[in-house]
Order: sequence, then structure tokens, then C-alpha cells
Amino acid sequence: MSDAVRIEHLAWPVYDRRVREDEPVVILPVGSLEQHGPHLPMNCDAVIPTTLAERVAVRTGNLVAPTICYGYKSQPKSGGGNHFTGTTSLDAATLVATVRDVIREFARHGVRKMAVIDGHYENNMFLVEGIDLALRELGRDGIEDMRIAKLPYWEYVTPATIDYAWPDGFPGWPLEHAGVMETSVMLYLHPELVDMAKAPRHAPADFPIYDLYPPDLSRIPSSGALSPSHIATEEKGRRFVDDYVSGMAGALAEAFGAKIRSRRKSTHAG
Ligand SMILES: [Zn+2]
Repeated sequence: MSDAVRIEHLAWPVYDRRVREDEPVVILPVGSLEQHGPHLPMNCDAVIPTTLAERVAVRTGNLVAPTICYGYKSQPKSGGGNHFTGTTSLDAATLVATVRDVIREFARHGVRKMAVIDGHYENNMFLVEGIDLALRELGRDGIEDMRIAKLPYWEYVTPATIDYAWPDGFPGWPLEHAGVMETSVMLYLHPELVDMAKAPRHAPADFPIYDLYPPDLSRIPSSGALSPSHIATEEKGRRFVDDYVSGMAGALAEAFGAKIRSRRKSTHAG
């Protein structure tokens, strides 16, 4: 298994040797367990960055850490809200501490390059805080050379793919919760987990500019999806994934000087 990129699949001496000899970037996917409408499974935000991380790691000769599968609380304007059954979230302090602890442990192993791939919009600043606290703590321990990139995968899309996926206009990433992009990517990666017969056709959610706490549930589509997704296709998913994998592989090369391998015949190559 020369293509083995997942740390948890390696025996520890193999991992130890790879950390020392290859000086890999360890890619940490962070997601959520969150409702994604009536047509998608609740693991979208974890399975998408995990699969992207694996494909980026194969292309760049790096490693993938086990995914953090829980995330910060779903917000009405970006994930429908935390009141839906199944949406299972962490308090901010728990997420921050988890990210900090995992980074600190990888540093103890000798890892000095990491990339955090965020799959859940609401995690953003709590990942920044976990990274910042880890670097501060490591610096106090005399480890000054850890570098960490943070990548929101959806921003690596190309304008051509946006035009292809939304011929009538792009609704913006927050309203894309369980929308065309996530549905298409899941149709491409895991069609067995998607039920297109239940894909919402309702209008995009119409939110006020302010936020209310507790939220006004009457403004939130009862489907849990924030925009229609019936125009999602597997081919759109393939184009999104191609953009994301090549964009993030290029980003790692830029940030860390990592090599990008030419595409292999491997079944993992993406
Ligand atoms: Zn999502």
C-alpha cells in the first residue's frame, strides 16, 4: 500500500519513518454532524473534506489525520440552525481545545507542517483559535517551526465551474447549505447516500440582515436545505472535486514547497 495516506491505517514504525524521512504535511479534515436536508446524509461536512484530503495527499505525497467529525453549532443562515434533530454540535471551547490538542500531539511526533481543511462553515474562527493556541503553546515549549495552512475547500472552485453549476446565478456559499454544490459532490463521491427524489425545489431562504437568539424558526426552510438542489448532477460534482483537489494541491505546494505528483493510475487518484 504505497499509496496509504491515512495515518490511522499505518503501523506506528511506518508512520514514524514517514514523519522523519518525508517531512510530510499532515492534513487534518474538520467537519460536523449536521442535517443536510431530506436528500443528503448528515456526514456531508465530514466525508467531503476527508475524501478531498485523501486525494490531495495522494497527489502531493502527504498524510491525512483522522477527521474531527463534530463541529461548532449550526447557524440558521449557514446550516439551518442547531434545532434540527440529528445536528449534533460541540461548544466552541471543546472544538478549540480538540484542534489545539491534536496539533500539539502531531508536533510531539516531529510533524512540522499541517493543513486544516474545514468542511463546515461555522467552524471557521474556532479552528483559527485552536491553531493559534497550539502555536503559542508549542512556542513556549521551544518549538518555533510548526507551520499550519487552513483551507476552506469550497473557495477553490473556478469561475467556469460556478457558471456550469448555476446557469441561473450563484446564490452565495452560506445559502449553499445542502444545495447544488454539496448535493453534486455527494452524487459524485457517494451516490448511494443521496436520494434525488427528495431534493428540495423550494426557493432559497430569505433571511433578514440581523441575527436573533434564539432564532426565528419561521424564517428557516423546514426542509433544512437553504437553497434548491434539484439541478445537482454527478458531472457537476466531478468538476467541483477536480477544482478543489488541484486547487488545494497547488496551495500546499505554494505554502510548503511540497511536490505535486503527476496523476497516478491508482484508484485513489482524483
Ligand atoms: Zn454542509
